[in-house]
Amino acid sequence: MPEPARVQLPPLRIAVVGAGPVGLCVALQLRQLGCTAEVQVFDAQPEAAAALADPRVLALSEGSRQLLHALGAWPQQAATAIRRIHVSQHAPGLASLPRVLLQAEEAGLPALGYTVRYGELLGALQAAARRAGIDVRYGCRAQVQAQPGAVRVSLGDAAAPAPAGFDLAVLAEGGAFHNQAQRELHRDYRQTALIGQVRCERPHDGLAIERFTEQGPVALLPRGADYALVWCAPAPQAQAILELDAQARLQALQALLPAVCGRVVELRMFGDYPLGLNARLRTRRGRVVELGNAAQTLHPVAGQGLNLGLRDSAVLARAVASATVSDLDAALRRYDFARAPDRAALLGLTDLLARGFTWRQPGAAALRAGALALLSGSWPLRRALQHRMVFGWRL
Ligand SMILES: Cc1cc2nc3c(=O)[nH]c(=O)nc-3n(C[C@H](O)[C@H](O)[C@H](O)COP(=O)(O)OP(=O)(O)OC[C@H]3O[C@@H](n4cnc5c(N)ncnc54)[C@H](O)[C@@H]3O)c2cc1C
Repeated sequence: MPEPARVQLPPLRIAVVGAGPVGLCVALQLRQLGCTAEVQVFDAQPEAAAALADPRVLALSEGSRQLLHALGAWPQQAATAIRRIHVSQHAPGLASLPRVLLQAEEAGLPALGYTVRYGELLGALQAAARRAGIDVRYGCRAQVQAQPGAVRVSLGDAAAPAPAGFDLAVLAEGGAFHNQAQRELHRDYRQTALIGQVRCERPHDGLAIERFTEQGPVALLPRGADYALVWCAPAPQAQAILELDAQARLQALQALLPAVCGRVVELRMFGDYPLGLNARLRTRRGRVVELGNAAQTLHPVAGQGLNLGLRDSAVLARAVASATVSDLDAALRRYDFARAPDRAALLGLTDLLARGFTWRQPGAAALRAGALALLSGSWPLRRALQHRMVFGWRL
């Protein structure tokens, strides 16, 4: 009997809205997996260089480094390794102040993570996208409209007309699309993150510091020869910190830090970001999938937002790389299922850390000290936490 003729299905058409780190990672991974889909990336910024000046320093896990390295987008020269993380709380009233030390050696990893400036990472991803021949259109503020079994993309102010229909829209626009306050999971932490650069008299030698204060967490991340600073405080206090003269500001920071980093000799401030938790319970409506900050914007405590977004991108690319129009919906359901535990764990953990260390009820500081002591004394607990912070929560 002659074999029935195979029906050649047309390649998928995928629109990626947002050429930030997460959007570019999705497009690069689809290409790397040999996906035959037609992929178009749109970004609202007028030119590729617009975001390269973003001064935010990101802590990326070893898992994220491996992912970016495999895409040829790891900015090796610009990265500083984090080999140890010192976690403690600032609680002057307590006699015993336990601290937790997480160490790469103990975890059997070359480093627990790396710091890299947002602009440097984006530059490496843009270069990789150019090399891979990915179609990125800048200056295109895209709008998407879900339709049964398809998506319509329109470009606001762009000169070029948008291609009419796509099979799938990947929203990686950083949460710019939505009224964040209308998200199902919404919390205004009423905190501002002040970012800057700190020089201490003692070389950091790969040490990162996470210091929980009742005002909000303060992080020092090794960055070149200095530290990058993320100083979270209630919005009015953050404003007051910015208004202090340079010496008073340096002393205010010094008073919050543990002795392990030594004396602060220089502090420069770069900018500020309001902090909130904004997330959806479900990140997909039909053929429109939100990921990265479009799906969840977290408090920067523990530096997890982009790490989580990169894992979103990897799982989505794997799910749809070999899908066809006929089995795309099943592939997207697998994606939803696979991402649920990691998202839930990190939404819960960052929210607990951001708020739990600011609780002032009697006994709260002692309870927190007890939790740190427990973690410090239990290697299996530390190992489990370390592994999940580096590679995520999987089923
Ligand atoms: C102070 C601070 C410190 C942080 N530290 C860390 C850290 O240490 N580690 C970590 O993992 N994360 C950290 N984060 C979080 C991290 O910055 C984000 O998770 C990450 O930038 C999200 O990437 P993204 O690609 O999803 O979105 P974005 O980086 O916001 O990129 C979105 C892109 O979409 C484009 N866009 C927007 N609207 C449209 C539209 N309508 N059409 C087309 N394009 C559009 C934008 O131009 C932009 O290029 C921190 C955040 C802050 C504020």
